[in-house]
Amino acid sequence: MNTLRIITLLLLSVSALAQMQLFSLQEVKLTGGPFKNAQDVDLKYILALKPDKLLAPYLIDAGLPVKAPRYGNWESSGLDGHIGGHYLSALAMMYASTGNAELKKRLDYMVDQLAHCQAKNGNGYVGGIPQGKVFWERIHKGDIDGSSFGLNNTWVPLYNIHKLFAGLRDAYEYAGNKQAKQVLVGLGDWFTELIKPLSDEQIQQVLRTEHGGINETFADLYILTKDKKYLETAQRISHRAILNPLIDKQDKLTGLHANTQIPKVIGFEKIATLTGKTDWSEAAMYFWQNVSQTRSVAFGGNSVREHFNPATDFSQVLQSNQGPETCNSFNMLRLSKALFLDKNDVSYLDFYERSLYNHILSSQHPEKGGFVYFTPIRPNHYRLYSQPETSMWCCVGSGLENHTKYGELIYSHSANDLFVNLFIPSTVNWTAKQIKLTQRTEFPYQNESELVVETPKPQKFSVHIRYPKWAENLHVLVNGKVQPVDGKPASYVAINRTWKQGDKVTVRFKTSTHLEYLPDGSNWAAFVNGPIVLAAKTSTDDLKGLFADDSRMGHETKGKLYPITNAYALVGDPATYLSQIKPINKLRFSLDSLTLQPFYEVHDARYQMYFQTFSKEAFNEQKARLKQQEAEALALDASTVDKVNCGEQQPEVDHDYKGEKSDSGYDDERFWRRTRSFIAYQLQNKNRAGKYIDIRALDTIKPEQVSFVINDKPAEVLSANGKTIRLNASDDEVVRLKIVAVNGANTPRFNQIRILTH
Ligand SMILES: [Zn+2]
Repeated sequence: MNTLRIITLLLLSVSALAQMQLFSLQEVKLTGGPFKNAQDVDLKYILALKPDKLLAPYLIDAGLPVKAPRYGNWESSGLDGHIGGHYLSALAMMYASTGNAELKKRLDYMVDQLAHCQAKNGNGYVGGIPQGKVFWERIHKGDIDGSSFGLNNTWVPLYNIHKLFAGLRDAYEYAGNKQAKQVLVGLGDWFTELIKPLSDEQIQQVLRTEHGGINETFADLYILTKDKKYLETAQRISHRAILNPLIDKQDKLTGLHANTQIPKVIGFEKIATLTGKTDWSEAAMYFWQNVSQTRSVAFGGNSVREHFNPATDFSQVLQSNQGPETCNSFNMLRLSKALFLDKNDVSYLDFYERSLYNHILSSQHPEKGGFVYFTPIRPNHYRLYSQPETSMWCCVGSGLENHTKYGELIYSHSANDLFVNLFIPSTVNWTAKQIKLTQRTEFPYQNESELVVETPKPQKFSVHIRYPKWAENLHVLVNGKVQPVDGKPASYVAINRTWKQGDKVTVRFKTSTHLEYLPDGSNWAAFVNGPIVLAAKTSTDDLKGLFADDSRMGHETKGKLYPITNAYALVGDPATYLSQIKPINKLRFSLDSLTLQPFYEVHDARYQMYFQTFSKEAFNEQKARLKQQEAEALALDASTVDKVNCGEQQPEVDHDYKGEKSDSGYDDERFWRRTRSFIAYQLQNKNRAGKYIDIRALDTIKPEQVSFVINDKPAEVLSANGKTIRLNASDDEVVRLKIVAVNGANTPRFNQIRILTH
């Protein structure tokens, strides 16, 4: 057991009886199966990264010579150094899990180099943030200009430095590097002094910008040092705009950047365990409850384009290529673990397990080790993977860590009880009691697990087997003898006896497949067997960008979006949907020509995880509606002389796009472009056949906010109707249309411009 945990226990022992505790990663070893593979592949990815390149931003900022140039991508475009922090955590936890000596060597080397940077800086500071000293000096003076992603025009600096705080903590906690603790304390003292002159109001202003779990790391500093000033700082740097509504049990999360919030809540929970602030802990539980139960899709992920969608409307999530982000689940697992330990409540593990198998495990390429950023649920879309040399995104940082610590919750224990939480092939050494347990299982391909006890002498203690929420007909046998099962789903089954060498526990259960609808009550559902989400590979065509390049948006798929209306749907009496799937073997099922399999097995392919469900009548209505829409589209095309789709590259090039202060994007299945200055296109009015120009936008077009110029003359507006405006086309064959923003504010997002005959 490590120092940090001992102190935690001392602090908790007042309030908790038989407090649940983790085993250290050293005590648990994976022995086979997909999680062991993920760990092995992650080890290779970790070793493929170069410590000197990751250290370069820190050396540059300290004015020391670099030993290798820094990495590109996000590591040299403002977020310099953030991967270095994650890397310390990954090295430390992977070392604890595997004992690989190269990892420890690298960790010690990196911490030593960071200590050099800190010594050179002279004030305790060490960081990779570009122009860090100038930046922090401004904050110290109270010169604060913050938005969601930028603080004084620097890209999320507190988020960045939080990674270093966490990395140093993990280097000490998991790998026993004492120098890491010294550097961490120095860094903590520097930060405490930095914010000392700031008022609470100014600190809250700083916290408007994404800052990771910086409050959590100050709570950890308090645990490590027992110095109260860190616990006070932890509370001062807790973001009230998020905390206060949660204390009032109000969910105001819609529209917020999701991964900005989750780490703050982990901090609230940790601070609550140290201060006895039960309202902070209840706020964390309330947040967890809402996010996990009303804001997550079947595989445990949440958000669209990184933001919380309305709990009542998942349509954006279904449409976007930017589905749930892996960092969010990385942090939701950390929050689930914290609440499980604090509340001794096994029900947190059902969500933990669901996200572990279906999001975390699936977010890594099982051979190449690349990490996934977005996991779309849009039917027939796909995910892409990072590469060690090109990709330095947030989800690479958290991804490096994700696969180092699968051993953290397979087992837990209290003073005299052993808990088996997950069915994953592994061993646990309960060092304090000289007990070893070996778990052999092929779950989820086989609904059985066997546990063998090794003990030098007979010992009396309880083994608690988790009875998962999804398990049916759970049986427990000891040495082949059926035991009475005194428990229900989402609890533990306890076996209390004197255990001797070679005692064997067998756990058997059944799983079934069910349809799990999206939380918004829409007619979209996924097939889930036990805790395993199923999906079908549908195509390997047009997987553009499958292995990411080093561009700023290299983490986003570039391949075509296939029409949602073409996706496979379940039609008929709802009672028949489940009978439409037929088991093949090993968690594979046929559904017409599709083969459903565990989503975590699906890679290098387009896939369908969510299916729209229709009664026969509703399906026919939808078909008729689509036919009608198609007829209308054809009629519109027939009267179109020329058109341009705004925000789409080729049509814009074809129409000689010009513009200033303009950006473009893709929402609601449509591309768009807007401007704070002007945009212009050249359209062809062949034979002067067109009489009107119709301009469509995704937002309401207010004539007072935007003006239109055709061939250098103000255009005549014939009608304005919500998101469409109609202009009189000119009599020229070439129509140069200029759209001008009035007063420099953003125009609506324009989507399409057509010249029409009628
Ligand atoms: Zn991320």
